[in-house]
Amino acid sequence: MTSGTRLLLIGPPGAGKGTQAAKLSEALHIPAISTGDIFRHNVKNETPLGLKAKEYMDAGDNVPDSLTNDLITDRLEQDDCSGGFLLDGYPRTTDQVRHLDGFLAEHGTSLDVVVERLRKRAMDQGRSDDDESVVRHRLEVYGEQTAPLIDVYGSRGLVVAIDGLGEISEVTGRIMDKLSERGISGS
Ligand code: ADP
Repeated sequence: MTSGTRLLLIGPPGAGKGTQAAKLSEALHIPAISTGDIFRHNVKNETPLGLKAKEYMDAGDNVPDSLTNDLITDRLEQDDCSGGFLLDGYPRTTDQVRHLDGFLAEHGTSLDVVVERLRKRAMDQGRSDDDESVVRHRLEVYGEQTAPLIDVYGSRGLVVAIDGLGEISEVTGRIMDKLSERGISGS
Protein backbone atom coordinates (compact mmCIF):
# COMPACT_ATOMS: atom_id res chain seq x y z
CA MET A 1 0.00 0.00 0.00
CA THR A 2 2.76 2.49 -0.69
CA SER A 3 2.25 3.85 -4.19
CA GLY A 4 -0.23 6.53 -5.19
CA THR A 5 -1.49 9.68 -3.59
CA ARG A 6 -3.24 9.89 -0.24
CA LEU A 7 -5.03 13.10 0.42
CA LEU A 8 -7.64 14.65 2.66
CA LEU A 9 -10.14 17.37 1.91
CA ILE A 10 -11.17 19.41 4.94
CA GLY A 11 -13.61 22.31 5.04
CA PRO A 12 -16.77 23.57 6.68
CA PRO A 13 -20.14 22.00 5.94
CA GLY A 14 -21.65 23.29 2.73
CA ALA A 15 -18.28 24.37 1.29
CA GLY A 16 -18.68 22.21 -1.81
CA LYS A 17 -16.19 19.52 -0.83
CA GLY A 18 -18.11 16.70 -2.46
CA THR A 19 -18.05 18.41 -5.86
CA GLN A 20 -14.31 18.97 -5.71
CA ALA A 21 -13.70 15.47 -4.37
CA ALA A 22 -15.35 14.02 -7.50
CA LYS A 23 -13.23 16.20 -9.81
CA LEU A 24 -9.99 15.36 -8.02
CA SER A 25 -10.83 11.68 -7.93
CA GLU A 26 -11.15 11.70 -11.70
CA ALA A 27 -8.03 13.78 -12.29
CA LEU A 28 -5.83 11.77 -9.93
CA HIS A 29 -7.33 8.33 -10.64
CA ILE A 30 -8.01 7.58 -7.00
CA PRO A 31 -11.29 6.77 -5.26
CA ALA A 32 -13.03 9.61 -3.41
CA ILE A 33 -14.39 8.36 -0.11
CA SER A 34 -17.00 10.40 1.72
CA THR A 35 -17.96 9.15 5.17
CA GLY A 36 -21.09 11.34 4.91
CA ASP A 37 -22.13 9.49 1.72
CA ILE A 38 -21.45 6.11 3.30
CA PHE A 39 -23.51 7.04 6.35
CA ARG A 40 -26.36 8.38 4.20
CA HIS A 41 -26.37 5.18 2.15
CA ASN A 42 -26.62 3.14 5.35
CA VAL A 43 -29.42 5.31 6.71
CA LYS A 44 -31.35 4.95 3.48
CA ASN A 45 -31.00 1.18 3.53
CA GLU A 46 -31.77 1.00 7.24
CA THR A 47 -28.68 -1.05 8.02
CA PRO A 48 -27.64 -1.50 11.67
CA LEU A 49 -24.96 1.15 11.14
CA GLY A 50 -27.49 3.49 9.54
CA LEU A 51 -29.92 3.05 12.42
CA LYS A 52 -27.16 3.97 14.88
CA ALA A 53 -25.89 6.94 12.84
CA LYS A 54 -29.22 8.54 11.97
CA GLU A 55 -29.97 10.34 15.22
CA TYR A 56 -26.55 11.98 15.28
CA MET A 57 -26.79 13.06 11.66
CA ASP A 58 -30.28 14.48 12.08
CA ALA A 59 -29.09 16.53 15.04
CA GLY A 60 -26.05 17.84 13.15
CA ASP A 61 -23.67 16.01 15.48
CA ASN A 62 -20.73 13.84 14.53
CA VAL A 63 -21.39 10.13 14.54
CA PRO A 64 -19.35 8.56 17.39
CA ASP A 65 -15.68 8.01 16.56
CA SER A 66 -15.76 4.26 17.20
CA LEU A 67 -18.40 3.69 14.50
CA THR A 68 -16.74 6.06 12.08
CA ASN A 69 -13.27 4.62 12.58
CA ASP A 70 -14.46 1.04 12.01
CA LEU A 71 -16.24 2.12 8.87
CA ILE A 72 -13.17 3.82 7.43
CA THR A 73 -10.90 0.88 8.25
CA ASP A 74 -13.20 -1.43 6.29
CA ARG A 75 -13.34 0.98 3.37
CA LEU A 76 -9.60 1.68 3.17
CA GLU A 77 -8.81 -2.04 3.26
CA GLN A 78 -10.67 -2.57 0.00
CA ASP A 79 -8.52 -3.17 -3.06
CA ASP A 80 -9.35 0.04 -4.87
CA CYS A 81 -7.61 2.04 -2.12
CA SER A 82 -4.25 0.32 -2.49
CA GLY A 83 -3.12 2.89 -5.06
CA GLY A 84 -4.15 5.92 -3.04
CA PHE A 85 -7.36 7.64 -2.03
CA LEU A 86 -9.00 10.95 -1.30
CA LEU A 87 -10.91 11.26 1.96
CA ASP A 88 -13.75 13.76 2.06
CA GLY A 89 -15.18 14.40 5.51
CA TYR A 90 -12.82 12.13 7.44
CA PRO A 91 -11.06 12.65 9.81
CA ARG A 92 -13.28 15.10 11.64
CA THR A 93 -11.95 14.77 15.20
CA THR A 94 -8.55 14.33 16.83
CA ASP A 95 -9.50 10.76 17.74
CA GLN A 96 -10.10 10.05 14.07
CA VAL A 97 -6.71 11.58 13.22
CA ARG A 98 -5.07 9.16 15.65
CA HIS A 99 -6.98 6.27 14.15
CA LEU A 100 -6.00 7.19 10.60
CA ASP A 101 -2.36 7.69 11.63
CA GLY A 102 -2.37 4.21 13.15
CA PHE A 103 -4.01 2.65 10.13
CA LEU A 104 -1.55 4.22 7.69
CA ALA A 105 1.46 3.34 9.84
CA GLU A 106 0.31 -0.29 10.05
CA HIS A 107 0.13 -0.34 6.28
CA GLY A 108 3.55 1.27 5.91
CA THR A 109 2.30 4.45 4.36
CA SER A 110 1.35 8.04 5.17
CA LEU A 111 -0.58 11.06 3.96
CA ASP A 112 0.80 13.21 1.16
CA VAL A 113 -1.29 16.33 1.47
CA VAL A 114 -4.29 17.89 3.22
CA VAL A 115 -6.34 20.31 1.15
CA GLU A 116 -8.09 22.92 3.26
CA ARG A 117 -11.05 24.16 1.34
CA LEU A 118 -11.79 27.67 2.55
CA ARG A 119 -15.34 28.84 2.89
CA LYS A 120 -17.28 30.03 -0.07
CA ARG A 121 -20.40 32.13 -0.46
CA ALA A 122 -23.50 30.83 1.30
CA MET A 123 -21.61 28.14 3.18
CA ASP A 124 -24.03 28.64 6.01
CA GLN A 125 -27.04 27.83 3.89
CA GLY A 126 -26.90 24.12 4.45
CA ARG A 127 -29.17 21.70 2.68
CA SER A 128 -32.77 22.56 2.01
CA ASP A 129 -33.98 19.81 4.32
CA ASP A 130 -31.96 21.05 7.29
CA ASP A 131 -33.57 23.45 9.66
CA GLU A 132 -31.66 26.53 10.65
CA SER A 133 -30.67 25.44 14.14
CA VAL A 134 -29.24 22.16 12.79
CA VAL A 135 -27.22 24.08 10.20
CA ARG A 136 -25.89 26.36 12.92
CA HIS A 137 -25.05 23.41 15.12
CA ARG A 138 -23.16 21.63 12.34
CA LEU A 139 -21.04 24.75 11.88
CA GLU A 140 -20.33 24.88 15.63
CA VAL A 141 -19.34 21.23 15.64
CA TYR A 142 -17.04 21.90 12.70
CA GLY A 143 -15.45 24.85 14.50
CA GLU A 144 -14.95 22.97 17.75
CA GLN A 145 -13.99 19.49 16.58
CA THR A 146 -12.72 19.69 13.01
CA ALA A 147 -11.16 23.13 12.46
CA PRO A 148 -8.37 22.31 15.00
CA LEU A 149 -7.21 19.49 12.70
CA ILE A 150 -5.89 22.11 10.28
CA ASP A 151 -3.25 23.03 12.88
CA VAL A 152 -2.46 19.40 13.59
CA TYR A 153 -1.76 18.71 9.93
CA GLY A 154 -0.30 22.19 9.43
CA SER A 155 2.41 21.42 11.97
CA ARG A 156 3.32 18.39 9.86
CA GLY A 157 3.66 20.66 6.82
CA LEU A 158 0.87 18.90 4.97
CA VAL A 159 -1.74 21.63 4.50
CA VAL A 160 -2.44 23.57 1.33
CA ALA A 161 -5.23 26.16 1.68
CA ILE A 162 -7.45 26.77 -1.31
CA ASP A 163 -9.72 29.71 -1.96
CA GLY A 164 -13.14 28.19 -2.56
CA LEU A 165 -14.59 31.17 -4.45
CA GLY A 166 -15.27 30.94 -8.16
CA GLU A 167 -16.35 28.41 -10.73
CA ILE A 168 -16.04 24.72 -9.91
CA SER A 169 -13.40 24.20 -12.61
CA GLU A 170 -11.42 27.21 -11.42
CA VAL A 171 -11.27 25.83 -7.89
CA THR A 172 -10.26 22.39 -9.18
CA GLY A 173 -7.50 24.07 -11.22
CA ARG A 174 -6.25 25.89 -8.13
CA ILE A 175 -6.07 22.65 -6.18
CA MET A 176 -4.30 20.79 -9.00
CA ASP A 177 -1.73 23.62 -9.26
CA LYS A 178 -0.97 23.39 -5.55
CA LEU A 179 -0.69 19.62 -5.77
CA SER A 180 1.69 19.77 -8.68
CA GLU A 181 3.92 22.15 -6.69
CA ARG A 182 4.21 19.19 -4.33
CA GLY A 183 4.98 16.76 -7.08
CA ILE A 184 1.48 15.29 -7.25
CA SER A 185 -0.14 15.09 -10.65
CA GLY A 186 -2.75 13.10 -12.48
CA SER A 187 -0.41 11.29 -14.84
P1 ADP B 1 -20.80 18.04 4.96
O1 ADP B 1 -20.08 17.72 3.69
O2 ADP B 1 -21.95 18.96 4.75
O3 ADP B 1 -19.88 18.45 6.05
P2 ADP B 1 -21.08 15.17 5.25
O4 ADP B 1 -21.84 14.72 4.07
O5 ADP B 1 -19.59 15.05 5.19
O6 ADP B 1 -21.48 16.70 5.51
O7 ADP B 1 -21.59 14.41 6.55
C1 ADP B 1 -22.96 14.31 6.89
C2 ADP B 1 -23.10 13.83 8.32
O8 ADP B 1 -22.53 12.52 8.45
C3 ADP B 1 -22.36 14.69 9.35
O9 ADP B 1 -23.14 15.79 9.76
C4 ADP B 1 -22.12 13.67 10.47
O10 ADP B 1 -23.28 13.47 11.24
C5 ADP B 1 -21.84 12.40 9.69
N1 ADP B 1 -20.40 12.22 9.42
C6 ADP B 1 -19.77 12.25 8.21
N2 ADP B 1 -18.47 12.03 8.33
C7 ADP B 1 -18.22 11.88 9.66
C8 ADP B 1 -17.05 11.67 10.42
N3 ADP B 1 -15.82 11.56 9.86
N4 ADP B 1 -17.18 11.56 11.77
C9 ADP B 1 -18.40 11.64 12.37
N5 ADP B 1 -19.53 11.88 11.71
C10 ADP B 1 -19.46 11.99 10.36
